[in-house]
Amino acid sequence: MTLATAMTKSGFTALRARDAGLLPAALSETGVLLVGAGSVGSQMADSLVRGGIGDLAVIDHDQVEPHNLSRTLYGTDDIGKAKAPALATILRRIHKDITITSHPYALQEMPRAILQAAVNDAHLIVAATDDPAAQRLVNRISQHNKKPALFVGLYRGAKGGEVVISVPGLTPCFECYAGAARFTAGTNNPVAREKDYGTQRLKAEPGLASDIRLVSAAAVKIALSLLAAHVRDPASSGAEFIIKALEARHSVVLFGMEPDYWLFPQAMRDAAGQYAFQSVWLGVERNPDCPACGPDRYQDDPIATMRGRVDATAINAEMEVERCGSRI
Ligand SMILES: [Zn+2]
Repeated sequence: MTLATAMTKSGFTALRARDAGLLPAALSETGVLLVGAGSVGSQMADSLVRGGIGDLAVIDHDQVEPHNLSRTLYGTDDIGKAKAPALATILRRIHKDITITSHPYALQEMPRAILQAAVNDAHLIVAATDDPAAQRLVNRISQHNKKPALFVGLYRGAKGGEVVISVPGLTPCFECYAGAARFTAGTNNPVAREKDYGTQRLKAEPGLASDIRLVSAAAVKIALSLLAAHVRDPASSGAEFIIKALEARHSVVLFGMEPDYWLFPQAMRDAAGQYAFQSVWLGVERNPDCPACGPDRYQDDPIATMRGRVDATAINAEMEVERCGSRI
């Protein structure tokens, strides 16, 4: 029996051998909706699949370009392909027992029925996009559908980054944070890509893969811990990490990759041996006037009111779902 055959036969059991007791086996019954398949999103997708989730839907309308190769999972053969299906193909090589769905759309332009189905299937939504409008829409969708969400962002040059946890009914939402904490963060707002006015194409933001991966890795641990908390398996310890953080009302993590960066010298001034690769967990104040989670919040269904396409024929033609290696 070849190693590949053994892996196929034992499926999740073999994949889980090195995290027994840390992550629940029932993680294979959980699903993640990932918005953004770039440097953060592709790295997170890889770790989430290897971490044992059972269902992953990927939304991204970009194509793979040569500059993506230095810090994503894509290879030269993927250049020119749409990121979402290219990523799905890569992830299916890890093991066949996971359902991976790819949606080559901008979030705002997705067919509404497909987006709603993907949201319904997800136990966690991850926003790994540098599009502020998409982040805001993810937040509204998370709130309206009562689905936990993570917002992962890198600061300019990947000198720092952030992971924002939003659990409807438990934590303040992403817009509470974006409207308040970021105001004091000044120039450290996460990077939103700029257009090159010559070509109208989005510019790639410089940043080392090592620094991006540090934030992505932390986001994956938070994601897996949230999912472990969802399945409530007392035999695994994976949920404790996030439960303790949220009990302490800490729902944002900030990262610094360089010495003397931003707020870290101040925050770490009493800690010896500090240099870089620093992190601080923060609480967020709920904005009583928040348009997404406040008492007078926007009530309309954000998916029903977005401008996405609704043609059912197009939906069926464009859906790409594979399970156990066979297209359905
Ligand atoms: Zn809010």
